[in-house]
Amino acid sequence: MAIIKYLCSLLIAFHSLSLSAKEINFIEIQPGMFVHQGSHFDVDIGYQGDICNVGFIIGNEAVAVIDTGGSLGVGNSILKEIKKRTNLPIRYVINTHVHLDHIYGNAAFLKESPVYVGHIELPKAMRFRKDFYEQTNLKYLNITAKESIQVPPTMLISINAPQEIDLGDRILKLDAYSIAHTNTDLVIHDIQTNTAWVGDLVFIERTPVIDGNIHGFISALESLKKQQYKMIVPGHGTPTKNGILAINKVKTYLQTMRDEIKEAIDSGLGLQESIKTLGQSESGKWELFDVQNARNINIVYPMMEWE
Ligand SMILES: [Zn+2]
Repeated sequence: MAIIKYLCSLLIAFHSLSLSAKEINFIEIQPGMFVHQGSHFDVDIGYQGDICNVGFIIGNEAVAVIDTGGSLGVGNSILKEIKKRTNLPIRYVINTHVHLDHIYGNAAFLKESPVYVGHIELPKAMRFRKDFYEQTNLKYLNITAKESIQVPPTMLISINAPQEIDLGDRILKLDAYSIAHTNTDLVIHDIQTNTAWVGDLVFIERTPVIDGNIHGFISALESLKKQQYKMIVPGHGTPTKNGILAINKVKTYLQTMRDEIKEAIDSGLGLQESIKTLGQSESGKWELFDVQNARNINIVYPMMEWE
């Protein structure tokens, strides 16, 4: 009986941890621009909802939040850290794309009445993935469906039709991409510092995830390269001033995948055998490689079979 009570109290403690604001660490990477780096855990056993980069930018009149983490708890922690640094209103909450580790903190900001901003396809993509994401949050974070709150954007950015928002002498340019990492990728460019928050179009350290279209992903990286950003904040990993190097590294991985999968299909190598053998030249370069590389092949191989 005592042990059951103990386990229950542990469960309750764990549960409230996932909703309440625990301290998270932010670094000011540019004047008025703050990033918290999530840890490189897989969305599997050990997932704690805090695995991607989240942050905020402070202008003269207002604040914009970029990505909100994988739970209301992470969202609350971001809110708390913003309040420590400024009293300015939080006018925008922007999501770089649909993945659950980037969006489930959105609801923490509802009381601030911001405008939620995202790619034109984001509301639909959120609805489409809702049930699966609720199951995932319950399974790994012990967060019920009721507490897995989606807040879709109402300010929608169309592909190839960038829009600007102003935080008070600080313009952010929002650029929606065609299908690449996902079909909801949005790049946020802080003109003042020439820094771009590129979401999961760029992975640093952690193995890239392909959940959209591999060819679109490669072209998105080519467009990013042309922008000559002074600094890049990836969706995962350490922000960098050497954006070209980071972009090229992701591009090499994707091209290797594309070429080897094509060769496998042409030579009749099956999916299961391909999962075991392709992309291995990239293996030492990335964290979480085996599990993510296998998932990527599992997604890309069937798509390329039809090309
Ligand atoms: Zn993602």
